[in-house]
Amino acid sequence: MKLAHCIPVLMYHHVSPADGSLTTSPANFESQISGLARCGYHSLTAAEFADFLEGKPTPAKSVLITFDDGYLDNWVYAHPILQKYSMHAVLFVITGLMGEGPVRPHSGQAEAVLPEARGHLECKALVSTGSPDAAMLRWTEVQAMQEVGTFEFHSHTHTHNRWDLTGEAREVCLKNLAQDLADSRAALLENLGAVSAHFCWPQGYFDTDYVVAAQTAGFKYLYTTAAHGQNLVGSSPAHIYRIAVRNRAYRWLLMRAWFATHPIVGPIYNKWKLWKRSLRDKA
Ligand SMILES: [Zn+2]
Repeated sequence: MKLAHCIPVLMYHHVSPADGSLTTSPANFESQISGLARCGYHSLTAAEFADFLEGKPTPAKSVLITFDDGYLDNWVYAHPILQKYSMHAVLFVITGLMGEGPVRPHSGQAEAVLPEARGHLECKALVSTGSPDAAMLRWTEVQAMQEVGTFEFHSHTHTHNRWDLTGEAREVCLKNLAQDLADSRAALLENLGAVSAHFCWPQGYFDTDYVVAAQTAGFKYLYTTAAHGQNLVGSSPAHIYRIAVRNRAYRWLLMRAWFATHPIVGPIYNKWKLWKRSLRDKA
């Protein structure tokens, strides 16, 4: 068996017919997932990805599919497509926004009357006006997806707050972050019976103190929004690179995964992208 030397970690937010940022259409998501399946890619669990980082032999065509936040459209559109192709994804949920109530219809059910599809900005507005249920997942939906095996669930904090932007003193920010992490762990434990060592930073923000806070809270595998680096055997679990998936068909994704994982081309491509960004930042 050919073994993986580098594993691409994909990052999604919405799968939805509603237009908006951070959104992949259901047609492109199906193209991507079916394309990966057709090419023989195996979608890892977070535990399998952790084993890979720690040196366990893992098949070459492996990918980790991640989602952030926990939007209702993940249940309505992404879950049935993952199920159709026997693929698996990892979802980092904002535990404080998860609702109660029965599961809602999804697009894998014939003649289902689906919940209204909402774009990213509309979801944000619903959350900020205190009506997250129309935008975010319910615990019953999370449990249903976990049972079927399309998704597994990990922490993305309880509130998704950027404590560093609150203007509070440094110690207060760190105290609030620690509480946020503890609350998310408690919610996952209460509703799913378990909490893992995998954690994703809200808006990708972290610094050295934040990393220590997350590790102190019990998180070891820290997922960033930094795209231009490789997840290799022996890479630091405290800095996992992820590729933001574009709203494109599978050919783009396979090409991007090839660039990301190639032992020679990958590092050159990443360096070039980071150099281009540094020029842009200077301008
Ligand atoms: Zn997020």
